[in-house]
Amino acid sequence: MVAWLDKIKQGFTWNYQGGVHPETNKQDINCGKPELINLPNELSIPVQQHIGSAGKLLVKVGDKVLRGQALTESQFFQAPPVHASLSGEIIAIEPRISAHASAIPELSVVIQVDKEQQDAQWPSPLSDEELNPEAICQRVHLSGISGMGGAGFPTALKITPHKPLDVLIINGAECEPYISADDCLMQNYAAEIIGGVALLQKVLKPTLTIVAVEDDKPKAIKALEAVGNQDIIIRSIPTKYPSGGEKQLIQVLTGKEVKANQLPIDLGMLVQNVGTAYAVHQAVMLGEPLISRVVTLAGDLVTSPSNYWVPIGTAVSDVINKKLQGEPNTPTIMGGSMMGFMLPSNQAPVVKTTNCLIVNNPMAAENESPCIRCGECAQACPMGLLPQQLYWYAKGDELNKARDFNIMDCIECGACAFVCPSEISLVQHYRTAKAKIRSEDIAQKEADIAKQRFDARQARLEKDKLERKAKHQQAALRRQAQAEDSAKQNKTDPVAAALARVKNKQAASPAAKQDETGEWVPDNQAAIAAREARKAERRAQKEANETKASANPAVAAAIARAKAKKETDNSGAISESKPRANPAVAAAIARAKAKKQQNQDNETTAEDNTIESSNPAVAAAVARAKAKKAQAQQQSEPTTATNPAVAGAVARAKAKKLASQEASADQANNNLDKPAAKSSANPAVAAAIARAKAKKAALAADASVDAGKVNIQDGEAIEAPLASEQSVQQNTQDSTTSNNTAKAKAIAAAVAKAKANKKAEAATEAPASPDKPAKKVNPAVAAAVARAKAKKLAEQQREEKDTNE
Ligand code: SF4
Ligand code: SF4
Repeated sequence: MVAWLDKIKQGFTWNYQGGVHPETNKQDINCGKPELINLPNELSIPVQQHIGSAGKLLVKVGDKVLRGQALTESQFFQAPPVHASLSGEIIAIEPRISAHASAIPELSVVIQVDKEQQDAQWPSPLSDEELNPEAICQRVHLSGISGMGGAGFPTALKITPHKPLDVLIINGAECEPYISADDCLMQNYAAEIIGGVALLQKVLKPTLTIVAVEDDKPKAIKALEAVGNQDIIIRSIPTKYPSGGEKQLIQVLTGKEVKANQLPIDLGMLVQNVGTAYAVHQAVMLGEPLISRVVTLAGDLVTSPSNYWVPIGTAVSDVINKKLQGEPNTPTIMGGSMMGFMLPSNQAPVVKTTNCLIVNNPMAAENESPCIRCGECAQACPMGLLPQQLYWYAKGDELNKARDFNIMDCIECGACAFVCPSEISLVQHYRTAKAKIRSEDIAQKEADIAKQRFDARQARLEKDKLERKAKHQQAALRRQAQAEDSAKQNKTDPVAAALARVKNKQAASPAAKQDETGEWVPDNQAAIAAREARKAERRAQKEANETKASANPAVAAAIARAKAKKETDNSGAISESKPRANPAVAAAIARAKAKKQQNQDNETTAEDNTIESSNPAVAAAVARAKAKKAQAQQQSEPTTATNPAVAGAVARAKAKKLASQEASADQANNNLDKPAAKSSANPAVAAAIARAKAKKAALAADASVDAGKVNIQDGEAIEAPLASEQSVQQNTQDSTTSNNTAKAKAIAAAVAKAKANKKAEAATEAPASPDKPAKKVNPAVAAAVARAKAKKLAEQQREEKDTNE
């Protein structure tokens, strides 16, 4: 390290590859003390003239501003403020044409310049006690200073100490043709420049400080050496383009090469322009903000090429107007002839990085020829690139390949184009390609940020999901532990027990089955099949009954007639209240009903016998219960049988029936060898019991039977005595073994007479209901009905007798 620095101190210089020696065209430019150009009528001050971001606007349209008044502000060093270069009134804040080859409009504060030109209250100079790095950086920031060599990097941000600095380089090389602004500044403001360098030394504390000036500027070197000190090396370097480039100057002064993707600070070095050093001095020692700069006005059409103090924001046309030998709108180059660019309009403003304006005769149309791959451009490139390859890739829009060939390291020096025999505008192709790549990078960066946010969100959601899952698992473990504890303590977990019961119940249920998910669902197939079977059985029974009924033509005919008559009666309300006028019809209805009832009773009896006989003990019990019930009914109806003979006949018939039933039950018991049938196994015993019961019932019936007391109120009520009559007939049929048909006939006749009498009495004695008028019963009709029934009954008995015989 010491040897390296000693070499620099001893005056060693190094060289870099490439570079060219163009005509400088500086000999005719006046580098005397620069003049202030005439006051322009209007200023257009872009709010951002540096790399970084714009500050916050402090003014609005209509405001009066003074010279040096801040128009924007920001606490961040990457956004140095801009100031009013002249006093006046703000007439617009709007996008105006920019000082760029694209002329893309930029937000600008437009000031109508006044004649008075009053200065704002500038900050006080920093005293020796206040000269600390922080105060100097803050003052540099508030003064709006950014790199004046062309890059426009915020100076306060650049000089903020990051790491120990070995070499501080002040760039006074100014290698580009025509440009002599720095030369003029060094010749006329050397003390201020050296003062600014001293302030930078206070901040950066470098081991070595070098002010580099090309050897074609002897006056500047002499002026600097005159005011310099031993801590600052004034170094003369060979004139070669582009030695003023940052990386090339470092290599010339130190022999160190700043490689691709490296910054000078990575090698412990930092480069500042002499114009920046002058601005730092003015800001710190005088409080003057950066509101104007020295600009070289040169070119074939300029009457007296010279350097001028130009307020920032002055239109190019106002700068060249009175110095021009031609049209004011003659195309102007901003910058040097090598790296400068042609302005689309001379209304573009002078900004902090503008160091030169060149107005030449309009050049003949470029006569580009195809690349002949001579390789001259590669020889001239100071960055060691392959300009011809970059040209092909840039022209073919193959940006990735251009990137692979390090197009972004191109400093746009134009040395390649300078030597190109085909006169190809190589730098223009490189600038276009680099702009596209930067746009792609910005888009990619935004996409990366969006992806990072998406990934972060996904990670957060996944984390939340895992946390929820872990929480559920912990809860399950807790429940399991509680269940185990409860089991140990002979307690059951109520929830688990309830779930287990439900599952067991579902699994054990015959009417349940598991679906494809394993859940238990009701199985109704058995119930549905049973219901269908019952329906089928009922249908079959109904058909059998109909067949049975239709087997007897007389019954079927009677039923049909009865149904027809019933429908006729139902269709007329009057038929309900009128007595049956035709005795023959009534008799036929009575016969049909009697036969129907007999059939139903036979079926019922058969069913009862079937049911009772299925269990002999039950059958016997049912028979005894029926006998008792009949006895009770006879006892509770003392007035129902007034004729002892009739009552006795009925009782004997019932007894006979009971005996028959018990005999059937005993027979069934004998078949099944059931011990419970002991008492009824002997038919004689059962018959004796039945006869005893019958006698008992007869005794009770003697006092109460009154067959004539039957309610015969209307046509409907006829069915009641008919039912009783049928019951009697049935009983009588059951007692066919008594061979007492004559007596039965007498009984039937008595019943009929009693019914007729009752009917007549009811017809005359029944009180009329207030809602329903009493129906008059025709005694003749009732007598006819009775006779018909008696006749029918006699026929039935005769038939039964014939059947028995
Ligand atoms: S100098 Fe021009 S012609 Fe020669 S290789 Fe480079 S681009 Fe092609
Ligand atoms: S413009 Fe780029 S490619 Fe051409 S010589 Fe300069 S650095 Fe090399």
